[in-house]
Amino acid sequence: MRQETRTIVATTHTDPAYGSIGTPIYQTSNFRFKKPGESTGFDYTRSGNPTRATLEDVLADLEGGAKAVAIATGMAAIATVLSHFDRGAHIIATHDCYGGTARLLRLLETQGKLEVSFVDLGDPVAVRNEIRPETACLWIETPSNPLLQVVDVRALVALAKVYGLLVAVDNTFLSPFFFRPLELGADVVVHSTTKWLNGHSDVVGGAIVARTRELGGRFYYLANALGTTTGSFDSWLVLRGIKTLAVRMKQHEANAQQVAEFLSQHPAVSEVYYPGLPTHATHALAKEQFSGFGGVISFRIANGTINEVLAGTKIFSLAESLGGVESLIEHPATMSHASMAPELRERAGITNDLIRISIGIEHADDLIQDLSSALGQATPKLHSQNAFSFRAE
Ligand SMILES: *Cc1c(COP(=O)(O)O)cnc(C)c1O
Repeated sequence: MRQETRTIVATTHTDPAYGSIGTPIYQTSNFRFKKPGESTGFDYTRSGNPTRATLEDVLADLEGGAKAVAIATGMAAIATVLSHFDRGAHIIATHDCYGGTARLLRLLETQGKLEVSFVDLGDPVAVRNEIRPETACLWIETPSNPLLQVVDVRALVALAKVYGLLVAVDNTFLSPFFFRPLELGADVVVHSTTKWLNGHSDVVGGAIVARTRELGGRFYYLANALGTTTGSFDSWLVLRGIKTLAVRMKQHEANAQQVAEFLSQHPAVSEVYYPGLPTHATHALAKEQFSGFGGVISFRIANGTINEVLAGTKIFSLAESLGGVESLIEHPATMSHASMAPELRERAGITNDLIRISIGIEHADDLIQDLSSALGQATPKLHSQNAFSFRAE
């Protein structure tokens, strides 16, 4: 079955009781036992709920994993995976990972629970040099946020196998429609289902998908022990979103390609980051490992003032997050990545001239028109002394 069919079949044939086409919402905290010691398979919703179980089956199916656990938020999914490691374990994480992930890793390091190295995972020598006896995990995000650098997951998996490291991939940016890291040998995939999987900007959610039943069981145990599992209504919303994942992702991508090409021709834009552009530094790798390039683009403003661009769009909303049907524009340095340590941010190239956009499913011509008029307001103020001024400075 192809992903287009799988998203529909998996989310439709789900009700063993009455064959309902829509998934029932089991909005209940607990379940009656048949008799002492004999449950229906469900006893308490933190531990298990039929609506959530349906979402978990669908996510495992889409990612090609053995078992999934649906979690309350993307960050809770990441925290649950990180709770797997013993005190003192060393994690090698990508240097430009999601701001919230970087913040959590730093917190766990400050508390003496984990040791963390932030490394450019595109540099295999640097990764190998960081591996120590305590190293337990490679934490990958590809394409990275916000610069959309693609790393060679296959090569990183091969390296991790040599040293017995767990390979975790945050697959939020592409969704299983465009990328299935477990098929390349990763051990676990995490998601913020808030983004493309749900796709409608009306729920916050997360997920963990494991390649093996055994590891999936471990994450289920941890999620239940920590209480990070998600509720039935939010599970239902994500299931509903997944029904249109294929058509949405195709439209997001087609629009993004056109917008990226427009931006790369624009005189006020000095650099565009989109893996679908042949000029992108890791385009070839993206083409080889993904079946699509996604809907996030970042770009740098050449001479103009960035505030005008950020405030100048009418269709793009000035907002954090990504992955919804509506287009968004944001400023990583002061918004999505504000919680990152300034020197790390600088090193990862997240400077004040950078803008990130999430491309929705509107008509591409309208999106281009909107950006064109916003960029028009910013274009070249050649002699401006504070060309890059912004409130963060
Ligand atoms: C949004 C996001 C998260 C965090 O997810 P929440 O649902 O906001 O908790 C983690 N990783 C990536 C790549 C994200 O974009």
